[in-house]
Amino acid sequence: MFTFNLKASTMDKPAQSILKSVFGYDKFRPLQAEIIGNILDRQDVLVVMPTGGGKSLCYQIPALVFDGLTVVISPLISLMKDQVEQLMQLGVSATVLNSSLSAVDYRQNVELVRSKAAKLLYLAPEALLKSNMLELLSSVKVECLAIDEAHCISQWGHDFRPEYRQLIKARSNFPKAACVALTATATPRVREDIKTSLQMDSDREYLASFNRENLFIQIVPKDNPLKQTLQFIQKFEYQSGIIYCHSRKQVETLYEVLSENGFSAKPYHAGLTDIERNRNQEAFIRDDVQIIVATIAFGMGIDKPNVRFVLHYDLPKNIESYYQEIGRAGRDGLNSHCLLLFSYADVQKIKYFIDQKDPAEKRVANIHLGALLRFAESEVCRRIPLLNYFGEDYTIEKCSTCDNCLAEDKELVDLTIPAQKFLSCVKRTGEKFGSGHLIDVLRESKAKKVLQFGHDKLSTYGIGADYSKKQWQQLARQFLHKGLMVQDMEFGSLKLTDKGWDVLKGRCEVWGQLAQERTVEKLVEESQRSDDLNFNQQLFEILRKERKELADSSGVPPYIIFSDKTLVEMATYFPQSRDNLLDIHGVGAVKCDRFGATFLDIIDRFCRENDIEERPKRPPKVLPGSPKKSSTARFHTMN
Ligand code: ADP
Ligand code: ZN
Repeated sequence: MFTFNLKASTMDKPAQSILKSVFGYDKFRPLQAEIIGNILDRQDVLVVMPTGGGKSLCYQIPALVFDGLTVVISPLISLMKDQVEQLMQLGVSATVLNSSLSAVDYRQNVELVRSKAAKLLYLAPEALLKSNMLELLSSVKVECLAIDEAHCISQWGHDFRPEYRQLIKARSNFPKAACVALTATATPRVREDIKTSLQMDSDREYLASFNRENLFIQIVPKDNPLKQTLQFIQKFEYQSGIIYCHSRKQVETLYEVLSENGFSAKPYHAGLTDIERNRNQEAFIRDDVQIIVATIAFGMGIDKPNVRFVLHYDLPKNIESYYQEIGRAGRDGLNSHCLLLFSYADVQKIKYFIDQKDPAEKRVANIHLGALLRFAESEVCRRIPLLNYFGEDYTIEKCSTCDNCLAEDKELVDLTIPAQKFLSCVKRTGEKFGSGHLIDVLRESKAKKVLQFGHDKLSTYGIGADYSKKQWQQLARQFLHKGLMVQDMEFGSLKLTDKGWDVLKGRCEVWGQLAQERTVEKLVEESQRSDDLNFNQQLFEILRKERKELADSSGVPPYIIFSDKTLVEMATYFPQSRDNLLDIHGVGAVKCDRFGATFLDIIDRFCRENDIEERPKRPPKVLPGSPKKSSTARFHTMN
C-alpha cells in the first residue's frame, strides 16, 4: 500500500472550506486530502478506492479551486448525467457534452464552456479527440484531466473499452493539465497498465483500503430461499435493495413472487428491452420502486447511494463479482446488509458453466470458484479472506459487522457420535453423494432421490433425527474443515479421509460447536441494532416524503436533493435554525438556501407537535470565563 506524507502545501484552507461550504461535509475521508493536494500541485495521480470511497470529490474540489476548466472523462452517459445533476444542485457549474443531447442543449452547453462559466465538463473518451472539441478546449485553460473508471483503458481489466485507448493521444493536447486517473479495480497489473498507458509523469498512487466497514456481511445455507428472502426483506420496509439471481428465469419467478406478496419490485435482465430496463432502473433510482431483482447485468452505471441491502439469491461467479455487487450497498456510509444464500447445488451449477469453457479459461474459472468456496466456508471474520484476496492485510480478529464475528463464542461439545453417524452414512451410500442427500437419509426423508437409491433401507436411515437440517449442515461443514472427509470438486460428493476412518472406528474423538438456531431475521435485527444513530423514524418518513416531492417536481432522483444520511441526521438533531442546519452532513450553502426553509418548517412543526427539543450537533462553544461543567473537570486530571 502506498501513502505519501505530503505537506499538502497548496491546499489546506480553500479545499477544506469548499468541502464544508459546498458539499456540507466536515472532514475528508482517508487519502482525499493528500490526493487533492497533489492535484493542486499539478502532479499526476492514480487513485484506487472501492466503490463509494469518495473518488469524485478528489477532482471536484480542485476543479473549484482552479481558475480554468476540469475535463472529466466518463464511459457512461448515465454516470455523467448523474454527476452533473448532483453538482448543479450544489450550485457548482458543471456541464456535459455528448451525443444524447439535443442540438439546442448542446450549443447551450458549449457556450457554458466557451464563456468560462463551467468549472467541470464531462465527456466520453472518444469526444476528446474530435476537432471541434479540441478547438473549443483550446479556447479555455484546461487545468486538470480526470479519467473516471480508468481501468477501462486496460485489457487486463474487467471492462476494457477501446475508446479509452485514444486518451493516450488526447493527453498530449493538454501538456500543462494534471492528470488524475480513478478506478475501483485494485489489481497491480491494471494499475501498472493505467500508469504506463497514460504516461503519468510521476508514480504517485493512492490505494485506499477496500474494507467497507458499513457493510454487514452474512452467508447462510440456502435451505428455503423463498422463505429466507421474504423474511429478510420484510426487515427493510421502504428501503432500497438489490436481489441478484443467476438466471433471467429465476429473476422473473422471484420478481413475481415478491409482487404477489405485496413488495414493490421490478425485474432487470438482458432479456428485457432497453426501454423496459431503463424504466425499471430509473424507477429504482427515484425510489418509486423498492427492490430490483436482477441478474449481474444490473449495477454498472448507477450511483444510488441509499441501497440498504444486497441479497445474493444465488452464488456469485467469483469473489471479485461478489465484491462489486455488495459494493453497491451503502455508498452513503450508512449501515447496509449483504446476505448470501449459499448452497452446494449452486456450486454445481457454476461448475457446469465452467465446464463449457475452453481449457485455459476453465482453469482460471476453477481457481476463482475455489477461492469463493473457501471464503463462503470460512469460519473466521469474513473480512479476512475477502480483503486478503485483494492483497490487503486485514488482521483485526473481530470486525463486529459480519456473521462470524457476531456469533458468540460457543462452548466446544463432544461431536464424536454425530460425526460417526454422518461418516457412516457417507460410507454406506458409497461415497457418491453430497451433504444435502446424506442429511436427507439421516433425517428419514421420503425424498424421491432417497427412495430411488433405496437409501431408506440403510441402517443409517433416520438415525439423525435429533438434529435439524441446518444443524447437520453446520456439522458437515465442520467435519470437512476438520479434515474428516474431503469433497470432490467436480461432483460435490463426500469421501472419508484416514482421519475420518479413525473417528468412525472410535480411535479418536471430535470436538466442535453445535449451532443454535440462528435465523436470518435475528441476525438482521442484531446488525440493525448496531446502527450508529438512533433517529426519529416518524420524522424521517415525513422528510423522505417531502424530498420525494421536491425531487419529482424537478425531475431528479431524491438523493440528489439530500442523501439518506442527511435526513437521518435531521431526524436525530432536529435542527431549527439555518446555522444548525448547516452543521448537518451534506448541507452546503446552496442547498441550505434552496431547500433549507422547507425542511426547517417541517422539523419545527414536528418538534412543536411532539414536544421535542433541538439537539445541536456541535456542542455549544464554552465562552471564556463561563463556569466549566463538572463533567469536564474529571478529564483535566488526566493531563
Ligand atoms: P466513488 O466514486 O468512489 O464510488 P463517490 O465519489 O460517489 O464514490 O462518493 C460516495 C459518497 O460519499 C457520495 O455520496 C459522496 O458525496 C460521499 N462523500 C465523499 N467524500 C465524502 C466526505 N469527505 N465526507 C462525507 N461524505 C463524502
Ligand atoms: Zn468479521
